[in-house]
Formats: sequence, structure tokens, C-alpha cells
Amino acid sequence: MKDIKDTLIIGAGLSGLTVAWKLRQLPEHSFLLLEQSEKTGGAIWSHSENGYLAEGGPHGFLDNCPESRALLEESGLEQECVRAPLARFVRYVCMNGSLKLIPQTPAKILAAPLISPLEKLRVVADLWKKPLAGEPTVSEWVRYRFGKALLPYVDAVFTGTYAGDLERLVIDGVMPGVRQIEKEHGSVIRGLLKKMKGARNTKKGTKKSLPAMTSFPQGMTRLGERLSQDLIPGKELLTSCSVNALSRTNGCWQVETGQGNFRAHNLVLALPVNRALALLAGLGTPPPQTKIAEAKIVTIALGFGAGASLPPGFGYLTPEQEQRFCLGALFSSNMFPQRAPAGHILLEALVGGRRHPERLQIDDANLIKEAVRDLRQLLNLPGEPTYSRVLRPGGGIPQLEGGYPALLQWRNTLMQKEKGLYVTGFGWEGIGLNDMIKTAFRVSEAIKEGEQDSGEQEAAIKKVYF
Ligand SMILES: Cc1cc2nc3c(=O)[nH]c(=O)nc-3n(C[C@H](O)[C@H](O)[C@H](O)COP(=O)(O)OP(=O)(O)OC[C@H]3O[C@@H](n4cnc5c(N)ncnc54)[C@H](O)[C@@H]3O)c2cc1C
Repeated sequence: MKDIKDTLIIGAGLSGLTVAWKLRQLPEHSFLLLEQSEKTGGAIWSHSENGYLAEGGPHGFLDNCPESRALLEESGLEQECVRAPLARFVRYVCMNGSLKLIPQTPAKILAAPLISPLEKLRVVADLWKKPLAGEPTVSEWVRYRFGKALLPYVDAVFTGTYAGDLERLVIDGVMPGVRQIEKEHGSVIRGLLKKMKGARNTKKGTKKSLPAMTSFPQGMTRLGERLSQDLIPGKELLTSCSVNALSRTNGCWQVETGQGNFRAHNLVLALPVNRALALLAGLGTPPPQTKIAEAKIVTIALGFGAGASLPPGFGYLTPEQEQRFCLGALFSSNMFPQRAPAGHILLEALVGGRRHPERLQIDDANLIKEAVRDLRQLLNLPGEPTYSRVLRPGGGIPQLEGGYPALLQWRNTLMQKEKGLYVTGFGWEGIGLNDMIKTAFRVSEAIKEGEQDSGEQEAAIKKVYF
């Protein structure tokens, strides 16, 4: 048995690394971060080869989250960032077999000829609709409030974020802020207009601009690398150290690992929901579900040479009704510099997701062949790819589907009951990098103050960007 730490953190993905980063700032707070794999960063994974730089995990994050901006500032990464502003980097949705440009502001979206005038009137009927009771899926909720014409566009949004299925994701899970507005104001449009008016009054004089997709010249791996860089190996960070069990005895948390047992006053689980649930079994009342669905995707990185060209912008997404092989593709060499050798382009196609797990069984050669066939119908890609690589992440994206609100409530009750227990990470409160950083800040603040984490934060209204 090793000495007792103030805090043990399980998992050195972005969530655990951010908690460790913040705890390092506390004088005389001892902590140890335990990571099962040899490297830190978790789902973040950049792949560099033959002059191409692709991402097997996240491609970037929007710079509109105060906590993420603070982390970049504190770590010095702010100076290194590369940014692709949404105002300049347009996005497309594949509709009826071709790419349609999607404007980025609600007013422009409404003005664009994406849906018919009658369908636009149906959207406004939201003003007279009562809040929808129960735990509706995204599809049920959008259909009820705004009509079915919006569904393909909403499908594209949730394909791009969750690789999910809007017939299964629940609105209370994926957009709690918007759901709250619906319940408070009786209408989403009325509630949003009120909020916008309030924000205009308080932010008079400040310039409104769209956020930028943010990454690093070396790819997203740089984020994990920087956050681990100052951790003292063996004292503050142990890699190749899988936590197999945890318990609480004599007022201390104890974890069992292949490298011995460790004890601490506080225990942070910074893990994807399913990994956390496996370790939490046996603690308190059983969870309402022992596992949630995950959506696995593969990234197919493709380089093309002379004659190939990409439309300006960030990439495109495809709703399921289009019945295409790829969920969409990122125009990576448009977005960030040095993603492809001179005279070449790089695009990264995404395949699989919640609705097509069977495609992950396809071998690399056939995945590449099918992806190229699909992309060629939409883009100017003559000749054979000059580069191709299939990147298969180990884990999937947690899906906030039926029963998720009850599971989150169970976690919050558990954290209130079990002194010193903090449960954060991939899928608990959102799935994006910004969600991870925001929640990790809240957890480390609670530890600093010696408080339990209620798990309750104001349900933010996340803006939707394609
Ligand atoms: C393919 C893909 C694409 C994505 N794209 C984007 C994107 O473009 N933008 C965006 O904002 N987000 C994106 N995300 C989500 C983003 O990657 C996650 O929000 C974030 O990386 C989650 O960080 P985490 O630390 O909570 O979890 P993880 O990154 O999963 O880290 C958990 C860590 O815990 C370790 N671990 C697990 N079990 C144990 C154990 N028992 N003992 C010790 N260690 C353990 C794991 O090895 C891992 O290192 C994407 C995710 C995936 C999978």
C-alpha cells in the first residue's frame, strides 16, 4: 500500500489531464493520475505519415468555451493554435445527391431556400406548441415542434457530433439547454428571442462573431502532450496502470491496479460512461442501466494530387435518408495548413456510426474503395488516391439515448452520497472536448473548495453549427 494522496484521478484522456492540470495549481495538493495505456490523451490521436496529418479522434474544438480558452492561455497553447473561423469555412449538407451550402446564422438559414415557404411557416408554429411531455427522441421532438422538413438537417448535425441516430438520441440528453427553454417559455423560438434580447442588452458594444474550429500544427495530439508534459512520472502520472476495482474503507478511497493499490481522500473517475459504470458497480444503489450504447466510426484519410480540388470550406455531412456510404468528410487541407504535401489535398471521410456498425467489419482496402466511390459522386477527385489510411479508434462515442437523464441523476445522487467521489468524462455531460474541459474545471474547483460535486450546472444553450 502506497502513501495516501489527496486525490487519485483515473484516466489520462482530456478530462483527467485537465483535472490534473488544475490540481497542480493548488499548493501542496498531492495527486496521482492513473492511465491504463502507455500514452496519455485518450481518444485524441493524430496520425502523421508521408506528409499527411490526419486525426483518428477529434479534429478540433470551437473556441467559444471560456474554460477551454482559459486552459489554452494557462498552458501557453494559445500561441500555438491554428484556427479555421466558421465565418470563412462554410459547411455543406448532402441533399438529393449533391452538396448544399449551409449558412451559419439562424437568420440566414431561415432566409435560404433549404425548405419551402410553407415548411418555414410550420417551423414558426413552435410559438403555439405546448412543451412536449416525457423523454422524446430528437426526431419526435423536432417533428412536433418544427415539422419534418427540418429533420434531414438535424440528422446531419447529430451525425456530425454524435455519429448518432436521431430516432434514438433523446433531446433532454443532447440539448438540455434548449429543452429547458421550451419548458420555461412554452416555445423555443420565443425563449431564444428573449435570451438574445437579454444578451444584446448586457453585451452592448461587443462585437459578435462566429467561433473558429481550433487545432494545432501537429494535430490534436499536441493538447494531450502539453497537458501531460509537466506531470512527474511515477509521482503524478502512472501509465500502463489499469484500475481494476475501487472501494472506500476507513474514510479513504482505495483503487486496485496491476501496479499495486493506491489510496486517496478524493477519487476522480475521468472515464467514458461505460468504463466508469463498470468500476462503480457495487457502490450505492445499482445504476438504472449498466451500459449505454456507443457509436464507433472509422476515419478514412485520403490524399489526392494534381487535378483534384475541394470546394471551399470545412466539409460536408450526410443525413441517413441519402443512403450514402460515408457519413460525411472533412476537407482537412482546406482547414488547417500543412495537412498534405504541396500540390496535394487531404480529406477525411467518416464511416460507420450508430446506424452502420456493420461497415466497421469491412477490411481497409474495401473501405477505401467504397469511400472513394462515394466521394467521387460529390467531389472532383480524378485519379487514384496518392495516400490512403484507415484509422480505427479503440473506443466509440457515448450515445445519450433513452434512460440517459435517469442515469445522470443516479450519478449525481451517488456523488452527493459518497464523500470525495467525482465522476466526470466522455458522455456524462456531453461528448465534445469543450464539454470535457468545462466539467473538469467544475470538478477541480469542487475539490479545491472541499465540496461535493452536485453535477448540476446550468444547462447551457449550445449553438448548432453544421
Ligand atoms: C472518433 C472520435 C471523433 C471525435 N471528434 C470530436 C471532435 O471533432 N470534436 C470534439 O470536440 N470532440 C470529438 N470527440 C470527442 C472527444 O474526443 C472526447 O470528448 C474526449 O476525448 C473525451 O475525453 P475523456 O478524457 O473524457 O475520455 P477518453 O479520451 O476516452 O479518456 C479516458 C482515458 O481513460 C483511460 N482508462 C479507461 N479505463 C481505465 C481504467 N480502468 N484504468 C485506467 N485508465 C483507464 C483510457 O485509456 C483513456 O486514456 C471525438 C471522439 C471520437 C471517439
